[in-house]
Amino acid sequence: MASTVAELAVGAVVERLDIERAWLVDPLTGREGPGEVVVRHGRLASVTWLRGATAKGIGPDGVLVLPGLLDLHVHLREPGGEDAETVATGLTAAAHGGFTTVAAMANTSPAADDPSVFARVRAAVEACGSPVELLLHGAVTAGRAGERLAALGELADAGAVGFSDDGAPVRSPVLMRNALLYLGALGLPLFEHAEDPGMTAGAEAHEGVVAAILGLRGWPVAGEEAAVARDLALLAEVLPDAPGARLHLTHLSTAPALDLVRRAKAAGLPVTCDVTPHHLALTDEWVAGARRWAWEAIDADGAVRDPWADGALVVGPYATATKVNPPLRSADHAGAVLAALLDGTADAVATDHAPHTAVDKETEFGLAANGISGIEAALSVLLAAVAAGKLPLLRAVEALTTGPASVLGARAGRRGAARGLVEGAPADLVVVDVGDRWTVTPDALCSLGKNSPFLGRELPGRVLLTVAGGRLGYRDAGAG
Ligand SMILES: [Zn+2]
Repeated sequence: MASTVAELAVGAVVERLDIERAWLVDPLTGREGPGEVVVRHGRLASVTWLRGATAKGIGPDGVLVLPGLLDLHVHLREPGGEDAETVATGLTAAAHGGFTTVAAMANTSPAADDPSVFARVRAAVEACGSPVELLLHGAVTAGRAGERLAALGELADAGAVGFSDDGAPVRSPVLMRNALLYLGALGLPLFEHAEDPGMTAGAEAHEGVVAAILGLRGWPVAGEEAAVARDLALLAEVLPDAPGARLHLTHLSTAPALDLVRRAKAAGLPVTCDVTPHHLALTDEWVAGARRWAWEAIDADGAVRDPWADGALVVGPYATATKVNPPLRSADHAGAVLAALLDGTADAVATDHAPHTAVDKETEFGLAANGISGIEAALSVLLAAVAAGKLPLLRAVEALTTGPASVLGARAGRRGAARGLVEGAPADLVVVDVGDRWTVTPDALCSLGKNSPFLGRELPGRVLLTVAGGRLGYRDAGAG
Protein backbone atom coordinates (compact mmCIF):
# COMPACT_ATOMS: atom_id res chain seq x y z
CA MET A 1 0.00 0.00 0.00
CA ALA A 2 1.63 3.21 -1.17
CA SER A 3 0.21 5.88 1.04
CA THR A 4 0.77 8.39 3.75
CA VAL A 5 -1.62 6.75 6.20
CA ALA A 6 1.27 5.60 8.39
CA GLU A 7 1.55 9.14 9.78
CA LEU A 8 -2.17 9.80 10.04
CA ALA A 9 -4.11 10.07 13.26
CA VAL A 10 -7.50 8.42 13.60
CA GLY A 11 -10.10 10.85 12.26
CA ALA A 12 -7.75 12.59 9.83
CA VAL A 13 -8.69 12.86 6.17
CA VAL A 14 -6.98 10.23 4.03
CA GLU A 15 -5.37 12.48 1.46
CA ARG A 16 -3.52 9.86 -0.49
CA LEU A 17 -3.82 6.10 -0.61
CA ASP A 18 -3.01 3.67 -3.41
CA ILE A 19 -3.99 0.06 -2.94
CA GLU A 20 -2.39 -2.01 -5.66
CA ARG A 21 -2.97 -5.60 -6.69
CA ALA A 22 -5.83 -6.45 -4.33
CA TRP A 23 -9.02 -8.50 -4.66
CA LEU A 24 -11.91 -6.00 -4.85
CA VAL A 25 -15.45 -6.93 -3.86
CA ASP A 26 -18.29 -4.62 -4.89
CA PRO A 27 -21.65 -5.88 -3.63
CA LEU A 28 -23.45 -2.99 -5.34
CA THR A 29 -22.59 -4.32 -8.79
CA GLY A 30 -22.05 -7.93 -7.72
CA ARG A 31 -18.54 -7.80 -9.08
CA GLU A 32 -15.36 -9.14 -7.53
CA GLY A 33 -11.89 -9.60 -8.93
CA PRO A 34 -8.37 -8.25 -9.10
CA GLY A 35 -8.07 -4.52 -9.05
CA GLU A 36 -6.63 -1.30 -7.70
CA VAL A 37 -8.08 1.53 -5.71
CA VAL A 38 -6.92 5.12 -5.45
CA VAL A 39 -8.03 7.53 -2.73
CA ARG A 40 -7.38 11.26 -3.05
CA HIS A 41 -8.50 13.91 -0.56
CA GLY A 42 -10.84 11.49 1.20
CA ARG A 43 -12.58 10.41 -1.98
CA LEU A 44 -12.46 7.22 -3.96
CA ALA A 45 -10.73 8.72 -6.99
CA SER A 46 -10.57 5.56 -9.05
CA VAL A 47 -11.42 1.86 -9.03
CA THR A 48 -9.57 -0.12 -11.67
CA TRP A 49 -10.37 -3.74 -12.48
CA LEU A 50 -7.31 -5.64 -13.69
CA ARG A 51 -7.29 -8.24 -16.46
CA GLY A 52 -4.85 -10.57 -18.13
CA ALA A 53 -1.22 -10.54 -17.14
CA THR A 54 -1.62 -7.61 -14.73
CA ALA A 55 -4.15 -9.61 -12.70
CA LYS A 56 -1.95 -12.67 -12.39
CA GLY A 57 -1.39 -13.98 -8.89
CA ILE A 58 -4.13 -11.87 -7.26
CA GLY A 59 -6.75 -14.00 -5.51
CA PRO A 60 -9.51 -13.84 -2.92
CA ASP A 61 -7.18 -15.47 -0.39
CA GLY A 62 -4.94 -12.39 -0.20
CA VAL A 63 -5.63 -8.70 0.40
CA LEU A 64 -9.30 -7.77 -0.03
CA VAL A 65 -10.79 -4.31 -0.47
CA LEU A 66 -14.42 -4.17 0.62
CA PRO A 67 -16.86 -1.32 1.16
CA GLY A 68 -16.98 -0.25 4.82
CA LEU A 69 -19.19 -2.63 6.80
CA LEU A 70 -22.54 -1.76 8.41
CA ASP A 71 -23.67 -3.35 11.68
CA LEU A 72 -27.39 -3.10 12.47
CA HIS A 73 -27.07 -4.17 16.08
CA VAL A 74 -24.46 -3.10 18.62
CA HIS A 75 -24.50 -2.26 22.31
CA LEU A 76 -22.19 0.61 23.20
CA ARG A 77 -23.28 0.83 26.87
CA GLU A 78 -23.03 4.64 27.08
CA PRO A 79 -24.75 6.21 28.97
CA GLY A 80 -24.81 4.17 32.12
CA GLY A 81 -22.52 1.21 31.44
CA GLU A 82 -19.19 2.89 30.71
CA ASP A 83 -17.25 0.18 32.58
CA ALA A 84 -18.24 -2.25 29.82
CA GLU A 85 -17.95 0.05 26.79
CA THR A 86 -18.07 3.70 25.84
CA VAL A 87 -19.01 5.32 22.57
CA ALA A 88 -15.30 5.99 22.02
CA THR A 89 -14.10 2.43 22.66
CA GLY A 90 -17.06 0.93 20.84
CA LEU A 91 -16.39 2.94 17.69
CA THR A 92 -12.69 2.10 17.89
CA ALA A 93 -13.62 -1.57 18.11
CA ALA A 94 -16.00 -1.17 15.17
CA ALA A 95 -13.26 0.31 13.01
CA HIS A 96 -10.90 -2.52 14.03
CA GLY A 97 -13.58 -4.92 12.84
CA GLY A 98 -13.90 -3.15 9.46
CA PHE A 99 -17.20 -1.42 10.28
CA THR A 100 -17.71 2.19 9.22
CA THR A 101 -21.34 2.46 10.33
CA VAL A 102 -22.98 0.92 13.38
CA ALA A 103 -26.49 1.20 14.80
CA ALA A 104 -26.62 1.27 18.59
CA MET A 105 -29.40 -0.37 20.56
CA ALA A 106 -31.48 1.60 23.05
CA ASN A 107 -30.86 -0.48 26.18
CA THR A 108 -28.57 2.03 27.80
CA SER A 109 -29.20 3.47 31.24
CA PRO A 110 -31.27 5.54 30.90
CA ALA A 111 -32.82 3.87 27.89
CA ALA A 112 -32.92 5.81 24.62
CA ASP A 113 -36.65 6.45 24.92
CA ASP A 114 -36.31 10.19 24.58
CA PRO A 115 -34.26 12.43 22.22
CA SER A 116 -32.21 13.79 25.15
CA VAL A 117 -30.43 10.41 25.33
CA PHE A 118 -29.63 10.65 21.62
CA ALA A 119 -28.13 14.09 22.27
CA ARG A 120 -25.85 12.68 24.97
CA VAL A 121 -24.67 9.86 22.74
CA ARG A 122 -24.07 12.20 19.81
CA ALA A 123 -22.03 14.50 22.04
CA ALA A 124 -19.86 11.49 22.94
CA VAL A 125 -19.38 10.70 19.24
CA GLU A 126 -18.36 14.30 18.60
CA ALA A 127 -15.94 14.29 21.53
CA CYS A 128 -14.17 11.07 20.57
CA GLY A 129 -13.45 12.16 16.99
CA SER A 130 -14.08 8.74 15.46
CA PRO A 131 -15.07 8.85 11.79
CA VAL A 132 -17.26 5.76 12.25
CA GLU A 133 -20.89 6.75 11.75
CA LEU A 134 -23.17 5.99 14.67
CA LEU A 135 -26.85 5.43 13.93
CA LEU A 136 -29.32 5.20 16.78
CA HIS A 137 -32.22 2.97 17.59
CA GLY A 138 -34.93 4.34 19.87
CA ALA A 139 -36.74 2.30 22.49
CA VAL A 140 -40.22 1.00 21.67
CA THR A 141 -41.54 1.42 25.21
CA ALA A 142 -40.77 4.02 27.88
CA GLY A 143 -37.75 2.84 29.86
CA ARG A 144 -38.01 -0.42 27.90
CA ALA A 145 -40.40 -1.34 30.68
CA GLY A 146 -43.07 -2.65 28.34
CA GLU A 147 -45.88 -0.61 29.85
CA ARG A 148 -46.46 2.28 27.45
CA LEU A 149 -44.95 3.43 24.18
CA ALA A 150 -41.85 5.63 24.18
CA ALA A 151 -41.85 9.05 22.48
CA LEU A 152 -41.74 7.36 19.06
CA GLY A 153 -42.54 10.43 16.99
CA GLU A 154 -39.98 12.59 18.76
CA LEU A 155 -37.35 9.88 18.46
CA ALA A 156 -38.12 9.56 14.76
CA ASP A 157 -37.75 13.33 14.35
CA ALA A 158 -34.44 13.08 16.20
CA GLY A 159 -33.20 10.60 13.61
CA ALA A 160 -33.91 7.13 15.03
CA VAL A 161 -33.20 4.56 12.32
CA GLY A 162 -35.22 1.82 14.01
CA PHE A 163 -36.99 1.03 17.25
CA SER A 164 -36.30 -1.80 19.65
CA ASP A 165 -36.57 -2.88 23.27
CA ASP A 166 -33.69 -5.26 22.49
CA GLY A 167 -32.29 -7.02 25.44
CA ALA A 168 -35.91 -7.99 25.79
CA PRO A 169 -38.89 -8.46 23.48
CA VAL A 170 -41.95 -6.24 23.42
CA ARG A 171 -43.78 -8.53 25.76
CA SER A 172 -47.32 -7.14 25.40
CA PRO A 173 -49.02 -8.06 22.09
CA VAL A 174 -51.22 -4.97 22.42
CA LEU A 175 -48.21 -2.67 22.67
CA MET A 176 -46.48 -4.55 19.86
CA ARG A 177 -49.51 -4.03 17.65
CA ASN A 178 -49.74 -0.33 18.51
CA ALA A 179 -46.02 0.14 17.93
CA LEU A 180 -46.24 -1.51 14.51
CA LEU A 181 -49.16 0.76 13.62
CA TYR A 182 -47.45 3.92 14.83
CA LEU A 183 -44.07 3.10 13.29
CA GLY A 184 -45.85 2.00 10.14
CA ALA A 185 -47.24 5.51 9.80
CA LEU A 186 -43.68 6.80 10.19
CA GLY A 187 -42.32 4.19 7.77
CA LEU A 188 -39.65 3.02 10.21
CA PRO A 189 -38.76 -0.56 11.14
CA LEU A 190 -39.41 -2.18 14.49
CA PHE A 191 -36.39 -4.34 15.44
CA GLU A 192 -37.68 -7.18 17.55
CA HIS A 193 -35.71 -9.43 19.88
CA ALA A 194 -37.91 -12.49 19.40
CA GLU A 195 -38.25 -14.38 22.65
CA ASP A 196 -41.30 -15.63 24.52
CA PRO A 197 -40.27 -14.92 28.12
CA GLY A 198 -42.88 -17.35 29.38
CA MET A 199 -40.75 -20.14 27.93
CA THR A 200 -37.28 -18.84 28.71
CA ALA A 201 -37.36 -17.61 32.30
CA GLY A 202 -34.10 -18.64 33.96
CA ALA A 203 -32.78 -20.29 30.80
CA GLU A 204 -29.02 -20.77 30.65
CA ALA A 205 -28.30 -22.59 27.38
CA HIS A 206 -29.96 -24.05 24.28
CA GLU A 207 -32.38 -26.77 25.33
CA GLY A 208 -30.71 -29.91 24.08
CA VAL A 209 -28.25 -32.64 24.88
CA VAL A 210 -25.41 -30.31 25.93
CA ALA A 211 -27.57 -28.42 28.43
CA ALA A 212 -28.96 -31.71 29.71
CA ILE A 213 -25.50 -33.16 30.32
CA LEU A 214 -24.13 -29.96 31.89
CA GLY A 215 -27.25 -29.53 34.02
CA LEU A 216 -28.09 -26.11 32.58
CA ARG A 217 -31.65 -24.89 32.26
CA GLY A 218 -32.84 -25.00 28.64
CA TRP A 219 -33.93 -22.17 26.31
CA PRO A 220 -36.32 -23.99 23.97
CA VAL A 221 -36.47 -23.47 20.22
CA ALA A 222 -40.21 -22.88 20.61
CA GLY A 223 -39.46 -19.76 22.65
CA GLU A 224 -38.17 -18.07 19.50
CA GLU A 225 -40.57 -19.71 17.06
CA ALA A 226 -43.65 -18.67 19.07
CA ALA A 227 -42.44 -15.08 19.36
CA VAL A 228 -41.80 -14.83 15.63
CA ALA A 229 -45.21 -16.35 14.86
CA ARG A 230 -46.90 -13.78 17.11
CA ASP A 231 -45.00 -10.87 15.58
CA LEU A 232 -45.74 -11.98 12.01
CA ALA A 233 -49.42 -12.38 12.83
CA LEU A 234 -49.53 -8.87 14.29
CA LEU A 235 -47.69 -7.47 11.28
CA ALA A 236 -50.19 -9.05 8.89
CA GLU A 237 -53.04 -7.68 10.96
CA VAL A 238 -51.87 -4.04 10.99
CA LEU A 239 -50.83 -3.89 7.33
CA PRO A 240 -54.22 -2.81 5.90
CA ASP A 241 -54.20 0.18 8.27
CA ALA A 242 -50.46 0.80 8.20
CA PRO A 243 -49.06 -0.22 4.82
CA GLY A 244 -45.73 1.29 5.84
CA ALA A 245 -45.31 -1.13 8.76
CA ARG A 246 -41.99 -3.00 8.75
CA LEU A 247 -40.82 -5.71 11.08
CA HIS A 248 -37.17 -6.64 11.47
CA LEU A 249 -36.37 -9.73 13.52
CA THR A 250 -32.88 -9.56 14.94
CA HIS A 251 -30.46 -12.37 15.84
CA LEU A 252 -32.71 -15.25 14.76
CA SER A 253 -31.10 -18.52 15.79
CA THR A 254 -33.46 -21.41 15.07
CA ALA A 255 -34.59 -23.35 12.02
CA PRO A 256 -38.36 -23.02 12.64
CA ALA A 257 -38.22 -19.25 13.23
CA LEU A 258 -36.22 -18.77 10.03
CA ASP A 259 -38.72 -20.99 8.19
CA LEU A 260 -41.55 -18.73 9.35
CA VAL A 261 -39.70 -15.71 7.96
CA ARG A 262 -38.97 -17.54 4.71
CA ARG A 263 -42.69 -18.24 4.25
CA ALA A 264 -43.76 -14.74 5.34
CA LYS A 265 -41.41 -13.20 2.78
CA ALA A 266 -42.75 -15.50 0.09
CA ALA A 267 -46.25 -14.34 1.02
CA GLY A 268 -45.16 -10.73 0.59
CA LEU A 269 -45.07 -9.57 4.20
CA PRO A 270 -42.68 -6.63 4.82
CA VAL A 271 -40.39 -8.54 7.16
CA THR A 272 -36.59 -8.69 7.25
CA CYS A 273 -34.19 -10.42 9.59
CA ASP A 274 -30.56 -10.72 10.57
CA VAL A 275 -28.40 -13.48 11.97
CA THR A 276 -25.19 -13.22 13.99
CA PRO A 277 -21.73 -14.59 13.22
CA HIS A 278 -21.80 -16.63 16.43
CA HIS A 279 -25.11 -18.33 15.68
CA LEU A 280 -23.93 -19.44 12.27
CA ALA A 281 -20.40 -20.46 13.20
CA LEU A 282 -20.56 -21.68 16.80
CA THR A 283 -22.69 -24.25 18.59
CA ASP A 284 -23.76 -25.11 22.12
CA GLU A 285 -20.81 -27.50 22.20
CA TRP A 286 -18.73 -24.40 22.91
CA VAL A 287 -20.46 -24.10 26.28
CA ALA A 288 -19.15 -27.58 27.02
CA GLY A 289 -15.65 -26.67 25.88
CA ALA A 290 -15.58 -27.67 22.22
CA ARG A 291 -13.87 -25.26 19.85
CA ARG A 292 -14.76 -26.52 16.38
CA TRP A 293 -16.82 -24.57 13.85
CA ALA A 294 -20.50 -25.39 13.50
CA TRP A 295 -19.95 -26.84 10.02
CA GLU A 296 -17.33 -29.22 11.46
CA ALA A 297 -19.84 -30.57 13.98
CA ILE A 298 -22.16 -32.06 11.35
CA ASP A 299 -21.64 -35.32 9.47
CA ALA A 300 -21.90 -35.58 5.70
CA ASP A 301 -25.40 -37.03 6.17
CA GLY A 302 -26.45 -33.99 8.23
CA ALA A 303 -26.36 -35.64 11.66
CA VAL A 304 -24.99 -33.67 14.59
CA ARG A 305 -21.79 -35.24 15.89
CA ASP A 306 -21.37 -36.08 19.54
CA PRO A 307 -18.63 -33.84 20.98
CA TRP A 308 -17.97 -36.27 23.79
CA ALA A 309 -17.52 -39.20 21.41
CA ASP A 310 -15.53 -37.05 18.99
CA GLY A 311 -13.06 -35.71 21.52
CA ALA A 312 -13.99 -32.17 20.48
CA LEU A 313 -14.04 -31.02 24.09
CA VAL A 314 -10.64 -29.46 24.56
CA VAL A 315 -11.06 -26.80 27.24
CA GLY A 316 -13.02 -26.63 30.44
CA PRO A 317 -16.78 -26.25 30.22
CA TYR A 318 -18.91 -23.37 31.40
CA ALA A 319 -16.87 -20.60 29.78
CA THR A 320 -19.23 -17.68 30.35
CA ALA A 321 -17.95 -15.96 27.19
CA THR A 322 -20.18 -18.44 25.36
CA LYS A 323 -23.30 -17.35 27.26
CA VAL A 324 -25.46 -15.26 24.97
CA ASN A 325 -29.15 -14.64 24.34
CA PRO A 326 -30.50 -16.28 22.26
CA PRO A 327 -28.07 -19.05 23.20
CA LEU A 328 -25.60 -20.81 20.95
CA ARG A 329 -27.68 -23.54 19.33
CA SER A 330 -26.99 -27.08 18.21
CA ALA A 331 -25.19 -27.61 14.92
CA ASP A 332 -28.39 -28.34 12.97
CA HIS A 333 -29.78 -24.92 13.90
CA ALA A 334 -26.46 -23.27 13.08
CA GLY A 335 -26.71 -24.96 9.70
CA ALA A 336 -30.20 -23.52 9.26
CA VAL A 337 -28.87 -20.05 10.11
CA LEU A 338 -26.21 -20.42 7.42
CA ALA A 339 -28.78 -21.73 4.93
CA ALA A 340 -31.01 -18.72 5.65
CA LEU A 341 -28.10 -16.40 4.91
CA LEU A 342 -27.36 -18.26 1.68
CA ASP A 343 -30.93 -18.18 0.33
CA GLY A 344 -31.62 -14.56 1.32
CA THR A 345 -34.11 -15.33 4.09
CA ALA A 346 -31.62 -13.50 6.31
CA ASP A 347 -31.03 -10.04 4.87
CA ALA A 348 -27.97 -9.23 6.94
CA VAL A 349 -25.40 -10.38 9.42
CA ALA A 350 -25.43 -8.23 12.57
CA THR A 351 -22.99 -8.76 15.41
CA ASP A 352 -25.11 -8.06 18.50
CA HIS A 353 -21.81 -6.75 19.90
CA ALA A 354 -22.44 -7.01 23.64
CA PRO A 355 -19.43 -6.02 25.73
CA HIS A 356 -19.48 -6.81 29.44
CA THR A 357 -17.16 -6.23 32.37
CA ALA A 358 -15.18 -9.13 33.82
CA VAL A 359 -17.22 -8.77 37.00
CA ASP A 360 -20.44 -9.43 35.09
CA LYS A 361 -18.94 -12.45 33.33
CA GLU A 362 -16.66 -14.05 35.92
CA THR A 363 -19.39 -15.67 37.91
CA GLU A 364 -21.28 -18.92 37.77
CA PHE A 365 -22.73 -19.69 34.37
CA GLY A 366 -26.38 -19.09 35.19
CA LEU A 367 -25.66 -15.70 36.75
CA ALA A 368 -23.28 -14.43 34.08
CA ALA A 369 -24.45 -11.61 31.80
CA ASN A 370 -25.57 -12.60 28.31
CA GLY A 371 -23.55 -11.42 25.36
CA ILE A 372 -20.45 -11.68 23.22
CA SER A 373 -18.06 -8.83 22.48
CA GLY A 374 -18.13 -9.67 18.80
CA ILE A 375 -17.67 -6.76 16.45
CA GLU A 376 -13.91 -7.19 16.07
CA ALA A 377 -14.05 -10.88 15.14
CA ALA A 378 -17.21 -10.84 12.99
CA LEU A 379 -15.52 -10.40 9.62
CA SER A 380 -12.93 -13.05 10.50
CA VAL A 381 -15.66 -15.52 11.47
CA LEU A 382 -17.40 -15.02 8.13
CA LEU A 383 -14.06 -15.35 6.33
CA ALA A 384 -13.56 -18.67 8.13
CA ALA A 385 -16.91 -19.82 6.69
CA VAL A 386 -15.78 -18.59 3.27
CA ALA A 387 -12.47 -20.44 3.60
CA ALA A 388 -14.34 -23.62 4.52
CA GLY A 389 -16.37 -23.33 1.32
CA LYS A 390 -19.62 -22.78 3.21
CA LEU A 391 -20.30 -19.18 2.18
CA PRO A 392 -19.46 -17.33 -1.04
CA LEU A 393 -17.27 -14.29 -0.36
CA LEU A 394 -19.66 -11.98 -2.23
CA ARG A 395 -22.63 -13.13 -0.13
CA ALA A 396 -20.64 -12.57 3.07
CA VAL A 397 -19.83 -9.03 1.97
CA GLU A 398 -23.41 -8.30 0.90
CA ALA A 399 -24.63 -9.42 4.33
CA LEU A 400 -22.38 -6.82 5.94
CA THR A 401 -23.01 -3.94 3.51
CA THR A 402 -25.88 -3.70 1.02
CA GLY A 403 -28.02 -6.19 2.99
CA PRO A 404 -28.16 -4.19 6.22
CA ALA A 405 -28.41 -0.93 4.24
CA SER A 406 -31.58 -2.21 2.56
CA VAL A 407 -33.05 -3.07 5.98
CA LEU A 408 -32.60 0.56 7.04
CA GLY A 409 -33.89 1.94 3.75
CA ALA A 410 -33.90 5.72 3.66
CA ARG A 411 -32.08 5.95 7.01
CA ALA A 412 -29.06 3.82 6.12
CA GLY A 413 -26.65 6.61 7.05
CA ARG A 414 -24.54 8.97 4.99
CA ARG A 415 -23.71 6.28 2.44
CA GLY A 416 -27.39 5.42 1.95
CA ALA A 417 -27.83 2.31 -0.14
CA ALA A 418 -24.61 2.98 -2.07
CA ARG A 419 -22.43 0.55 -0.17
CA GLY A 420 -20.16 -0.32 -3.03
CA LEU A 421 -16.83 0.80 -4.42
CA VAL A 422 -18.24 3.94 -6.03
CA GLU A 423 -15.83 6.28 -7.78
CA GLY A 424 -16.16 9.87 -6.63
CA ALA A 425 -17.87 8.99 -3.35
CA PRO A 426 -16.22 9.59 0.01
CA ALA A 427 -13.79 6.72 0.59
CA ASP A 428 -15.49 4.20 2.86
CA LEU A 429 -13.69 0.92 2.77
CA VAL A 430 -11.90 -1.82 4.65
CA VAL A 431 -8.67 -3.51 3.62
CA VAL A 432 -8.27 -6.98 5.07
CA ASP A 433 -5.58 -9.59 4.50
CA VAL A 434 -7.32 -12.97 4.47
CA GLY A 435 -4.02 -14.82 4.53
CA ASP A 436 -2.81 -13.05 7.65
CA ARG A 437 -4.18 -14.61 10.81
CA TRP A 438 -4.50 -12.80 14.12
CA THR A 439 -4.81 -14.10 17.64
CA VAL A 440 -7.74 -12.85 19.68
CA THR A 441 -6.36 -11.67 23.02
CA PRO A 442 -7.65 -9.12 25.53
CA ASP A 443 -4.96 -6.72 24.31
CA ALA A 444 -5.83 -7.26 20.65
CA LEU A 445 -9.44 -6.23 21.30
CA CYS A 446 -10.08 -2.48 21.28
CA SER A 447 -13.42 -3.03 22.98
CA LEU A 448 -13.49 -2.74 26.76
CA GLY A 449 -15.49 -5.96 26.64
CA LYS A 450 -13.04 -8.86 26.59
CA ASN A 451 -15.89 -11.40 26.67
CA SER A 452 -15.01 -13.19 23.45
CA PRO A 453 -15.27 -16.97 23.07
CA PHE A 454 -12.33 -16.69 20.65
CA LEU A 455 -9.77 -15.60 23.25
CA GLY A 456 -6.56 -17.48 22.56
CA ARG A 457 -7.70 -18.55 19.12
CA GLU A 458 -6.21 -17.62 15.78
CA LEU A 459 -8.65 -16.32 13.18
CA PRO A 460 -8.15 -15.63 9.46
CA GLY A 461 -8.37 -12.08 8.15
CA ARG A 462 -6.37 -9.27 9.68
CA VAL A 463 -7.93 -5.85 9.10
CA LEU A 464 -5.14 -3.62 7.83
CA LEU A 465 -7.02 -0.41 7.31
CA THR A 466 -10.50 1.04 7.74
CA VAL A 467 -11.43 4.32 6.09
CA ALA A 468 -14.78 5.79 7.13
CA GLY A 469 -16.30 8.73 5.28
CA GLY A 470 -12.89 9.62 3.84
CA ARG A 471 -11.17 9.60 7.22
CA LEU A 472 -8.88 7.13 8.94
CA GLY A 473 -10.80 4.80 11.24
CA TYR A 474 -8.26 2.10 11.98
CA ARG A 475 -4.75 1.20 10.85
CA ASP A 476 -2.93 -2.00 11.73
CA ALA A 477 0.49 -1.34 13.19
CA GLY A 478 2.01 -3.30 10.33
CA ALA A 479 0.16 -1.44 7.53
CA GLY A 480 2.05 1.17 5.52
ZN1 LIG B 1 -31.38 -9.16 21.66
